[in-house]
Amino acid sequence: MASEFDLIDRYFKRPAPAGMLGVGDDCALFGVPPGMQVATSTDLLIEGRHFFADVDPRALGHKALAVNVSDLGAMGARPIGCLLGLALPAIEPAWLAAFSEGFHALATASGCPLIGGDTTGSALGVAISVTVFGAVAPERALRRDGARPGDQVWVSGTLGAADIAYRLLSGQMPADAGLLAATRTALEWPQPRYALGQALGGVASAAIDISDGLLQDLGHVLKASGVGAQLRFADLPVAPSLAGIDPARLRHAVLGGGDVYELCFTAAPERADAVRAAAAAAGVAVTPIGQITPAAGLAVLGPDGQPDVDLPRGFDHFSTP
Ligand code: ADP
Ligand code: MG
Repeated sequence: MASEFDLIDRYFKRPAPAGMLGVGDDCALFGVPPGMQVATSTDLLIEGRHFFADVDPRALGHKALAVNVSDLGAMGARPIGCLLGLALPAIEPAWLAAFSEGFHALATASGCPLIGGDTTGSALGVAISVTVFGAVAPERALRRDGARPGDQVWVSGTLGAADIAYRLLSGQMPADAGLLAATRTALEWPQPRYALGQALGGVASAAIDISDGLLQDLGHVLKASGVGAQLRFADLPVAPSLAGIDPARLRHAVLGGGDVYELCFTAAPERADAVRAAAAAAGVAVTPIGQITPAAGLAVLGPDGQPDVDLPRGFDHFSTP
C-alpha cells in the first residue's frame, strides 16, 4: 500500500512554475506583481451532495478545480495557483490517476498549477476542498457591488443544460439517454470563464459566476449594488440541446438551474462594443439579457412584455421546501 507521501508524489506533485515554491514544503510561496492584489476563494465538494459517487473521476478532478477557477474569472483575476484538500475512504490508484489527470489538465490549461494541499483518510466518502489564488488590480476587480441603473445585464455561454442533466441522473426526470448524452458535458465538464473575466476587467461594472442559478446569483449582484433588474425571457441563451423540452421544465432550468459556471455581468450600454470585443478575444459567446433598474427587485418579462410571476428560486443548501 502506497504511503500518503508516495501518493502525493505520484499523483499531485508537479514541478512548480519559475519563481514559485510548490508541493513538498510546509507552505507554498508565490508573489504578485506590484499594484495587484491576491484574489482567493475556496469551494468544498462532498460525495452525495455535489457529485455522484460513480462520477467519472477525471471529470470530477476537472470540476473540482473548474468551480474554483470560475470564481477567479468572476472576479476578473488571473489564476496563480491552487491548493487541494482531499479526504479519501481508500486509496484506489485508477481513481486517483484519473482524478489527478482531470485536475492537472485544467490546472495547466488555466495557468493555475497545484502548489500544495492536504491528504487524509475519510470515514464518510470522498470530500474535496480546493482553494485558488489569483492576481487582480483592485480597480479592475469585477465586484458584485458595481452594477448601476441603465447598465446592460449579460450572460456568457448558454443556460439550462446542467440542470437537466442533473435531473436525469438523479431520477427527477424519466430516463432519456439521448437528452442525457446531449446535456451531461455541461454538468460534468463546466468550462470556467477565466479568460473572459480577465478581458472584462475595466469593461464590466459587476460580475458573478452562476453556480446556484441565474436569478439567485444575479440577485446577489443586485443586492450588493442596491439596484434591481429586468430580464427578457426570450433573450436568454438556452442550450440548443434543450430544444423540444417541456416549457415549464425549461423555464425552471434556465432561470433557476445551478452548476452553470457561466458569467453573469453588467456593463454600461456604451461599453457594449468593448464587451463584445472582450468576448471575442476570450472565444466565448455573450448575450445581453436585460437592464439594471434603479428600483430594487428582479423581473423577468414574458413574450407579452408582462413580468412573469412565480419565478423559480435557485439552489440553497439550507433552504427548507
Ligand atoms: P504538513 O504535515 O506540513 O501539513 P503534509 O505532509 O500534509 O505537510 O504535506 C506534504 C506536502 O505535500 C506539502 O507541501 C503539502 O502542501 C503537499 N500536499 C499534501 N497533500 C496534497 C494534495 N492533495 N495536493 C497537493 N499537494 C499536497
Ligand atoms: Mg498536511
